[in-house]
Amino acid sequence: MKHTTLILLSFLIYFSALPISAKAQTNTIIHCGSLIDGASKKIQKEMTIELNGNKIISVAKGYSDIPGNAEYIDLKEHTVMPGLMDMHVHLEHESNPKTYENRFRQNDTDVALEATVYCERTLMAGFTTVRDLGGTGVNVSLQKAIAREFIKGPRIFTAEKSIATTGGHADPSNGVKKELMGDPGPKEGVINSPEEARQAVRQRYKNGADCIKITATGGVLSVAKDGQGPQFTVEEVKAIVDAANDYGFVTAAHAHGAEGMKRAVLGGIHSIEHGTKMTEEVMDLMIEHGTYLVPTIMAGKFVAEKAKIPGYFPEVVVPKALEIGPMIQATFGKAYKRGVKIAFGTDSGVSKHGENGKEFFFMVEAGMPAMEAIFSATKYAAELMRVYDELGSIEKGKIADIVAVKGNPIDNIKLMENVQFVMKEGKVYKHEQ
Ligand SMILES: [Zn+2]
Repeated sequence: MKHTTLILLSFLIYFSALPISAKAQTNTIIHCGSLIDGASKKIQKEMTIELNGNKIISVAKGYSDIPGNAEYIDLKEHTVMPGLMDMHVHLEHESNPKTYENRFRQNDTDVALEATVYCERTLMAGFTTVRDLGGTGVNVSLQKAIAREFIKGPRIFTAEKSIATTGGHADPSNGVKKELMGDPGPKEGVINSPEEARQAVRQRYKNGADCIKITATGGVLSVAKDGQGPQFTVEEVKAIVDAANDYGFVTAAHAHGAEGMKRAVLGGIHSIEHGTKMTEEVMDLMIEHGTYLVPTIMAGKFVAEKAKIPGYFPEVVVPKALEIGPMIQATFGKAYKRGVKIAFGTDSGVSKHGENGKEFFFMVEAGMPAMEAIFSATKYAAELMRVYDELGSIEKGKIADIVAVKGNPIDNIKLMENVQFVMKEGKVYKHEQ
């Protein structure tokens, strides 16, 4: 009996293996008029990319023949690039005057259903990978649902819930009446010692996070007076980074003021988000430690503009938005020129999801060459997340995340706001002629 079962089993394994290998032989050929491959900074003309399933198997000069069984994608009029990567989004929400009361009205199910729309918009804008730097945990469910192809969206690295100190930016009970405040602790992402810091990271790991975000200084949109003072000790940051390193997690620190940035960099944080009031001392420290800046210029512009509309933000938010918002772009320009490593990020969710591509123009306007801006959203972002061996360029062996715009984005960076072809993991999600 046993013997028969074994034979049957081995037959089953043999036959079930067949369709997979048969499928693997159906290749896709892409002809690219121009190619920015995310590895060399030259635009290459008339190139052919060959895919096998979700993998790139060759990139070659000239337009190859198309084998009879291959799928053909014609991008001869386009500039083809690696799938774009946004290192700072919040997929659970999109800010509006009701954001603050929605916290008390919306269930996670409401948040999740709305977020499916934001995820799809983000992918259709050409962003095949994002880092979600803080929500309530719905972002973990979004990550899974997208990975299983239940919904359309970018590949997500998620911080789950940001880690804050009591009363700090991302303390979930800020600004509410005392009866509703509760006493959030490490479990909810609020810490007040190195011990609690470690516990909060481990809880994020348990909850499904795969990167860590801290709020190293006050923030613009929290219902709290201070928008820039430091909120963690160096020891607390070190404890967070240590615990995160145990899981191989990359860490990010929201920071507007210089002292908080300094403590974050000295504590070993991998990227500073916003970097609004970064001093030259901090820039040099970042260069020394290899810390990235993720600028989020468009979020600054968005909050400064909306702060002028009466009632859009709570009163305590308005002066912070007016002061901090407009500063980010100039600081970014200085940091780039000084040699700080830059990774692309928009803080979408503050501004509208799906408009991520607008950030490119602001980066170029501040003095970054267009090719560098594109690299910040491909190679450099992939390096920050330590996934450049799989993502961030169009090279043999990499995952087939490929986007394209019509025309030359180096001559006109605004073309990045109108991505016409989107492929993620070898699957085409958008192809406009
Ligand atoms: Zn943010």
